[in-house]
Amino acid sequence: VSQTIGVIGAGVIGVACARALQRAGRDVVLFDPLPPGSCCSAGNAGHIALDHIRPLARPDILAAVPRMLASRTAPLIVRWRGLPALTPWLTRFALAAHPRQVGIATAALSALLGTALADWQNELELSGLSSLLRQQGGLNVVETRQGLAALRREANVLDAQAVPYWDLSPSQVVERLPGLSVSSQGGRLFPQSAHVVDPLQVVASLAKRFVADGGTLIPAPVTDFEQQDTRITGVNTPNATYPVSAIVLASGVATAGLARRLRFHLPLTAERGYHVMIPSGSIGVEMPVTFNERGFVVTPMAKGIRLAGTVELGAGQRHPDWSRADIFAAHVRALFGKSVNVLSRWHGDRPTLPDYLPAIGHAPGLTNVLVAAGHQHLGLTLAAVTARIVASLAAGRAVDIDLRPLSPARFHRR
Ligand SMILES: Cc1cc2nc3c(=O)[nH]c(=O)nc-3n(C[C@H](O)[C@H](O)[C@H](O)COP(=O)(O)OP(=O)(O)OC[C@H]3O[C@@H](n4cnc5c(N)ncnc54)[C@H](O)[C@@H]3O)c2cc1C
Repeated sequence: VSQTIGVIGAGVIGVACARALQRAGRDVVLFDPLPPGSCCSAGNAGHIALDHIRPLARPDILAAVPRMLASRTAPLIVRWRGLPALTPWLTRFALAAHPRQVGIATAALSALLGTALADWQNELELSGLSSLLRQQGGLNVVETRQGLAALRREANVLDAQAVPYWDLSPSQVVERLPGLSVSSQGGRLFPQSAHVVDPLQVVASLAKRFVADGGTLIPAPVTDFEQQDTRITGVNTPNATYPVSAIVLASGVATAGLARRLRFHLPLTAERGYHVMIPSGSIGVEMPVTFNERGFVVTPMAKGIRLAGTVELGAGQRHPDWSRADIFAAHVRALFGKSVNVLSRWHGDRPTLPDYLPAIGHAPGLTNVLVAAGHQHLGLTLAAVTARIVASLAAGRAVDIDLRPLSPARFHRR
């Protein structure tokens, strides 16, 4: 009988899981038709966002949806043509925005975020990659009175979960962002947040270490499974079948289709986002800076400054709308009073469940299938903690986090 664990998907989640399972002494085969990190994990903002304890499914965001439907430039938009397919997801999103549910989700995200950075430090140190991580904090800037009021309301939630932060006056914001030419209403500094200087390199380097330490990387898609009763015994690719003792589904947005094959429901949507790169030194930033009302992040990276963000729902499989990326350069012009040279543009699809919680745990009705998917805006942030949890579950060990709100079975009706 095989003792091999198959990890399906080599994005940041799959690669981190493969590393944690390997360190726990397991024989791991990692499947992906594309080079590790090629999809959503390549282009994120690199922010280890310890402050993101509130799910995006919540009343204030829900109230803004009608406005978003009418806009092409708002930070969050819905593509009309994708609306019919998106309607069941939006319905679940609306239900998840109930205050009681928001409280449960906030507690669940806080628990994951509580060790997210320590888990990354551990993984990167053990892999000899600590130089890719910078611990310089994260800054949020607000430009309007409404933005400031929202910042104040958020303080109660941060206090309740003991997230450390300092509030900054407009002049303190300028001290940290020399060159800012608009007057802000203030900001908030999260001293414990961090960032990586090259998200793709993080995944590619971890995958390299995985192979150097004896792991197997199969450059092929998983197309189907061999099943005996409630156990998966093999993984099929177009050219071969690989015997397995367990599998981890970590295939980003595509996990929805694999779940369908395994007869359970995981309503992942592709939440499109964009980035552009501008040359290092174009603006003076030392940490990820989020401009709250504009809905984008500016992160200093090894190969330039990354401007990333926006949410486009209903865009899955459709062509990118590059005007969504061009907005970032316009924002920088407005904020810093200078034109910037765009070096490259990118788009990617976040894997997002309607309650904005990841699915981490056992798949319903199957004894040896673990799920690690649906990490929405926090896949980089939560990869190492997710991997630690997956390795514990694979070993049959208890986990120090309440996994019930994260159950992959929560959308499944028999
Ligand atoms: C603009 C933007 C900015 C972001 N900023 C941040 C940030 O600052 N901080 C943060 O924490 N998160 C951020 N995110 C979110 C983060 O990037 C995602 O949550 C994360 O990349 C998801 O990782 P993943 O491994 O689940 O998916 P992916 O990276 O999409 O990887 C899935 C992999 O599975 C493979 N796959 C699919 N089907 C199969 C199959 N059948 N067989 C084998 N392999 C398969 C794919 O080829 C792919 O390589 C951002 C996202 C975007 C779009």
